[in-house]
Amino acid sequence: MVWSLYCPRCGFSGGLESYYPWCPRCGGPLEVSGELPSFPRVLGEGRTPIVFESFYGGIVGFKLEYLNPSGSFKDRGVSYSLQLARGLGYKCVVVDSSGNTALSLATFASRLGLEPIVFVPKTAGAPKVSLLRALGAKVFIAESRVEASNMAAAWAGECFHVAHLTSPIFLEGMKSIGLELAEHYKSPTVIAPVSSGSLLLGLYRGLREAGAKPRLIAVQASEASPLSRVLGVLESIGGEKSSLADALVIKEPPRLGEIAKAVRETEGGVVKVGNGAIRVALRELLSMGFIVEPSSAVVWAAFKAIAGKLEDRDVVLILTGSGLKYARELESLTGASERA
Ligand SMILES: [Zn+2]
Repeated sequence: MVWSLYCPRCGFSGGLESYYPWCPRCGGPLEVSGELPSFPRVLGEGRTPIVFESFYGGIVGFKLEYLNPSGSFKDRGVSYSLQLARGLGYKCVVVDSSGNTALSLATFASRLGLEPIVFVPKTAGAPKVSLLRALGAKVFIAESRVEASNMAAAWAGECFHVAHLTSPIFLEGMKSIGLELAEHYKSPTVIAPVSSGSLLLGLYRGLREAGAKPRLIAVQASEASPLSRVLGVLESIGGEKSSLADALVIKEPPRLGEIAKAVRETEGGVVKVGNGAIRVALRELLSMGFIVEPSSAVVWAAFKAIAGKLEDRDVVLILTGSGLKYARELESLTGASERA
């Protein structure tokens, strides 16, 4: 079983089983030729439950990705990437992240005997940084998200750079969520938050590989919605500010063209969500027993806004990240501290 990476943009072709986080010639995202290995689950990642509820005369499935080992869907791509890295002989792994990917990396690296090195912007919350250190990660704090990326890039080569915005290896791991949904659904409407796009592309690739015909609704934060520039919007709700969606901040995802193509081709659409709607959606999800982070609540807000347009398709909402990492913020966000 052999594979190599190539660049669809400039024609670069890497050697057999040589890893590059992005194209060394033009910087674009690479693709895989040949066949990648498959890997076992390491900490019970993936295979997350779907909880069904009746709303507006239809059945809605909530895919509980926040129940992954480190509390987010990123565990799928990270577990796959790190097992590949270990097989290639790397001793250390590096990533830049506003939070969830870094936590996932630290969790799986420790388990797999790799040294985790993470670069986070100074806006990342203190509890996350402290958990990263407790998990054994070497943590570097950058002034901004962009600086964190540049700092991490300097380590690529010596260490395996997970590069969750560009790497086709990460996407190979993310594909499992689409394959799982295809076991339950033939033509679902899937509503998912989109920042780097790895979740949406994982859904798209997995569902398509399994022969399903999904419609993909991409939900973005009001202040970071590059897809709406390309595709327009179905709905925009909750105002122009979206600081609460702190995991949905990527304004120039390297795979933007591909994400837009997946949404367009599946006759999906884009919904923009701001703080006002996030706050309400978070409160309602918590009242249903779903302890999610604010960035995940956007899908519930989006679903309510477009429910009337969804015809009779099955609907699945992807609940991406755990609210347990935000315990303090959730109290004030939902107004629970005032009610006590
Ligand atoms: Zn290239």
